[in-house]
Amino acid sequence: MKPYLTNSSSFYLKKCFMILFISTTMATPLLPLEILPLEGRLSFEEISHAARDFGNRYQFHPLAVLHPKSVPDIAKTIKHVWKMGQSSDLTVAARGCGHSLQGQSQAHQGIVIDMGSIRVHHPIQVVRNGGVQPYVDVSGGELWINILHETLKHGLTPKSWTDYLHLSVGGTLSNAGVSGQAFRHGPQISNVHQLQVVTGKGEVVNCSKNQNAELFHSVLGGLGQFGIITRARISLEPAPNKVKWIRVLYSDFDTFVREQEQLIAAKETFDYIEGFVIINRTGLLNNWRTSFNPQDPVQASQFSSDGKTLYCLEMAKYFNHEEADLAEQETKLLLSQLSYISSTLFIAEVSYIDFLDRVHVSEIKLRSKGLWEVPHPWLNLLIPKSSIHRFAGQVFGNILKDTSNGPILIYPVNKSRRDNRTSVVIPEEDIFYLVAFLSSAVPSSTGSDGLDHILSQNKRILDFCESGRLGVKQYLPHYSTQEEWKEHFGPRWEIFKQRKSTYDPLAILAPGHRIFQKSI
Ligand code: FAD
Repeated sequence: MKPYLTNSSSFYLKKCFMILFISTTMATPLLPLEILPLEGRLSFEEISHAARDFGNRYQFHPLAVLHPKSVPDIAKTIKHVWKMGQSSDLTVAARGCGHSLQGQSQAHQGIVIDMGSIRVHHPIQVVRNGGVQPYVDVSGGELWINILHETLKHGLTPKSWTDYLHLSVGGTLSNAGVSGQAFRHGPQISNVHQLQVVTGKGEVVNCSKNQNAELFHSVLGGLGQFGIITRARISLEPAPNKVKWIRVLYSDFDTFVREQEQLIAAKETFDYIEGFVIINRTGLLNNWRTSFNPQDPVQASQFSSDGKTLYCLEMAKYFNHEEADLAEQETKLLLSQLSYISSTLFIAEVSYIDFLDRVHVSEIKLRSKGLWEVPHPWLNLLIPKSSIHRFAGQVFGNILKDTSNGPILIYPVNKSRRDNRTSVVIPEEDIFYLVAFLSSAVPSSTGSDGLDHILSQNKRILDFCESGRLGVKQYLPHYSTQEEWKEHFGPRWEIFKQRKSTYDPLAILAPGHRIFQKSI
């Protein structure tokens, strides 16, 4: 599909007249979109931002952007498109923060709903009543960082996070929301009690495990296909104030993953467990995050990586000021059971909020150098435990032996607290690894840091996974054809399709994924 570059009002007006003409021949005449009675507004100008996303590779220009002030604004707009039926090719995409990678929150000549507009009108509500588990009610357009700030005022916090918090609730719940706490609490979609959703027919529906359960499970991990999340009720727990943030290095992959798995299986363990791959970084210690101090600076200065691939285990222990000694002892005990390279123990003590908002620090730095708005050909994979050694051998030992163009995360998650009724697709096994190649491309470079090179490396990785039958699934999936989507969903395709025909039968919602196409 080619990017649609311009979008004139005259084109739009012609379309309105056509709709008016068609609708006057129907039982109830439809108002043109432009004069829908809304509390917010539909904008047909200043819409180019809705044709961009973090991936910086796909640009589909919408016809209009809806800035809703209320849930009825969203419902009215979708109902309007629904009533136009197959006489119109209009589609609708919710846009949280537009941190998608391949146009998933865009709608070519459709309506993009700016979910940020609605959050302003729906304050975050923390509820802490007696014996009941505390929770927070938020708008679907709310940012996780705002939720963190607000819940901390009550001494509470959500349990499961993403590494970066300037993402919307609707955006992460449409995928899963995974970070280093997922082994303990499940992904973010496992920590939601209730949702309010506007379906593809414009109906506003409350749903939970006990009420409209099918819609609830469909929407979680549902890639925006079944409805727009307008409210979410998220589970909370008491918040710690401080975090011991620890990194250690391994040169042996087998030991690294064995100890990661050991840690996620243990009863007494860290609160957050992730890891990443360091490819060919000489002078590693000098480039190490400045906020981290080596446990033994003299020993650390003698450590040389010799250009070898290294594996960094990253862990965090949460605690409150008054429990500092206990946290220290527990951390020491846990570390004593690990066999990392002893001179590479790095520990920082930071506030809980600084720990969770850590990626934002990098964002500010990258923005200041003009390096945030570059193409991001990211590849996120879920790899079954039984395939991780073969995967690492070929990918870190061959395809990416010499260079990487950004961080490569690798950490195990288990199926605990996962509900297989949701729409998210994961590998068959109980334990699988999230491996995220978070590459940035240098614009117009034709070298190994250019977009084409990185995309061809991604393709080699995917081809290897397929030819080796590793049982890998894409996270934040992206495909171009329905055949590929069928392959992705496997036996779950039929139920996904069935849910689509129930909640969005005209395929109005989230066209940017290119799973279903509106038939006109
Ligand atoms: P958008 O890009 O605006 O939308 C994404 C999709 O969700 C679109 O299909 C859109 O139509 C749909 N959507 C948006 N809002 C709604 C809604 N209210 N109702 C229904 N559908 C909706 N993910 C992780 O799991 N873990 C991480 O650690 C992590 N780290 C990240 C770090 C960075 C720097 C970035 C850029 C992304 C990261 N992500 C991570 C991926 C992120 O979770 C997804 O890209 C997410 O969709 C982004 O949220 P958003 O609000 O920007 O969504």
